[in-house]
Amino acid sequence: MEYNLLLIIASILFGGAWGSFLNVVISRVPEGLSVVYPPSRCPVCKNQIKPYDNIPIISYLILRGKCRNCKTHISIEYPIVEFIGSVMGLALYLEFDFTIEYLYYFVFVFGMIALAFIDLKHWMVPDSILILLAIVGLLVPAISYFLNYIFYIDIFTSLIGGLVGFATIAIIIILYKLIRNIDALGWGDAYVLSIIGIYLGAKGAITSLFFSVFQASLIGITMILIGKKQTVPYDDVTDDDPIKDKAALPFIPFLIIGSLEYLFWGEKILNWWFNFMKIGN
Ligand SMILES: [Zn+2]
Repeated sequence: MEYNLLLIIASILFGGAWGSFLNVVISRVPEGLSVVYPPSRCPVCKNQIKPYDNIPIISYLILRGKCRNCKTHISIEYPIVEFIGSVMGLALYLEFDFTIEYLYYFVFVFGMIALAFIDLKHWMVPDSILILLAIVGLLVPAISYFLNYIFYIDIFTSLIGGLVGFATIAIIIILYKLIRNIDALGWGDAYVLSIIGIYLGAKGAITSLFFSVFQASLIGITMILIGKKQTVPYDDVTDDDPIKDKAALPFIPFLIIGSLEYLFWGEKILNWWFNFMKIGN
């Protein structure tokens, strides 16, 4: 595929603009607030943010991370999410060109990033985002099927992927509960892997799960080695709550990173792995 410089710039700006919207989603959806109204305002002085102060990444740099009105510090998370959005907008263009597939995986990737940040900050998985992702994820391949359009993922792969993703985590949850009476994973993980299966198929869901377990283990072992204990970052967990002191890693962000690795590099990693195994024999 030939890359076009204008489209490269456009995809970076497009990704950055939606990254800016993701910040709104990440801060408002867990509170049950509208993502379209009211317009962005400073959380401290409530001053409405002017369009020229709302340019992804650039405004943060110009304002040196402070509100123009009251000089309150603005979290570095905002430009980070905008930067991730720009990188993803570009990566999707390089992978899919500007096609229906581009928009389809744009919805997937940006929905996944929202879920990762919301889980990191609030330890929750909003139903509204899951439902939106499931509807888009199944509807596009379904319409393509009826229009005889050959889409990147066909509706049957997508449906089976959704079921396999959900069932895989459900089986792990039930087995751990029966055998060791512990909650290894949560139902939020099952819903997220189901969404991954809808967009990436059963093979994508299982491979993403392997990638995420591998990476979570590396991080978990590292944290034990350096003696760091991650506690539940819930604002409203009381001191006598049993989950308060449980050392835990939020797993959903790992699942999401695993799914993005699969989307962009999955086939290359799998080919490399199978070649590696052949050399080993
Ligand atoms: Zn302010």
